[in-house]
Amino acid sequence: MSLLNNIIIKTMPILPKKMVKIIADKYVAGNTISDAIHKTKNLNSQGYEVTIDLLGEHIKELDEINNITNIYIELLEQIHSKNLLSNISVKPTHIGLDIGIDTFKKNAIKLVEKAQKLNNFIRFDMESSTTTDATIETFKEIHKEHKNIGTVFQAYLKRTYSDLENLMNQQINFRLCKGIYNEDAGIAYKDYNEINENYLKIAELAFKNDSYIGLATHDLNLTKRLYDLIDKYSVPNDKFEFQVLYGVPMKGWLQKHLDNKFKVRVYLPYGPQWYEYSIRRLKENPNIAKYVAKSIFSKRDY
Ligand SMILES: Cc1cc2nc3c(=O)[nH]c(=O)nc-3n(C[C@H](O)[C@H](O)[C@H](O)COP(=O)(O)OP(=O)(O)OC[C@H]3O[C@@H](n4cnc5c(N)ncnc54)[C@H](O)[C@@H]3O)c2cc1C
Repeated sequence: MSLLNNIIIKTMPILPKKMVKIIADKYVAGNTISDAIHKTKNLNSQGYEVTIDLLGEHIKELDEINNITNIYIELLEQIHSKNLLSNISVKPTHIGLDIGIDTFKKNAIKLVEKAQKLNNFIRFDMESSTTTDATIETFKEIHKEHKNIGTVFQAYLKRTYSDLENLMNQQINFRLCKGIYNEDAGIAYKDYNEINENYLKIAELAFKNDSYIGLATHDLNLTKRLYDLIDKYSVPNDKFEFQVLYGVPMKGWLQKHLDNKFKVRVYLPYGPQWYEYSIRRLKENPNIAKYVAKSIFSKRDY
């Protein structure tokens, strides 16, 4: 771990909440639905679509899970009534997976059906490998009846290519990311180049099979190589989108995407859990400390 990472991690817990807020503000829309709606409107006006995420995960109380599901419903209603270009991203353990797959499925169906009525779309984020089977199984089951559902696949998992090969005949919409959790080397690639090669192999699979793919990455080398693939397969603009986390600098690439008429979707987290989220993420993945520090000193793209 670098000296900078060490310093930031050691001082985070003793920093006043107000100072942590300055850092979190770079990455989080705010506390309330209206903060998220306000930022979404702003991003839409600059040409970006959005996916809103209510911060939180691993909820084990049924009342709280039901509450959270209702907040997502309200979010869908507000997006609709304000004519915003945004779908929502939901973590399976935020709406019940830690209690059991049936609780998750029940709430997932509730959200997908509501979204369908409002002409919107729900994406289930992918959490650690302990949740992969349940998330894919739930996605597959709901997808049989409702096409306004998507999930996420992680390029660092060795299983992902074959998971997706099996889904390619079903016209799915998936997000591809590298993966953020600390997985065992037995099941996950650990090397930067291996992860990137797998990412490209999977993107190629989607392009060849006419599947819709959300290309979620801030890696500019990878982005350049994705441009080459898009070019090689003459992929139409309505078969992919680029996705980025709110606040992460992309050195002008977002504007380049827009100039090319490529859709860009910004993942926008919000909610009262911003403090815990920032501290936990820092502890779990010290590299984020480096990213936070870097982003404070670099220019945002919007
Ligand atoms: C829209 C979106 C949705 C995601 N959803 C999921 C999900 O459902 N499940 C999951 O496991 N992971 C998810 N991730 C996280 C992803 O898996 C990676 O861990 C993360 O994006 C870093 O990988 P990278 O492709 O950006 O490349 P990296 O090689 O890790 O990073 C490339 C460069 O991007 C910058 N960077 C990367 N991340 C950040 C950051 N957070 N803050 C500031 N700078 C950064 C750094 O400068 C770094 O050098 C998502 C990422 C995005 C963009």
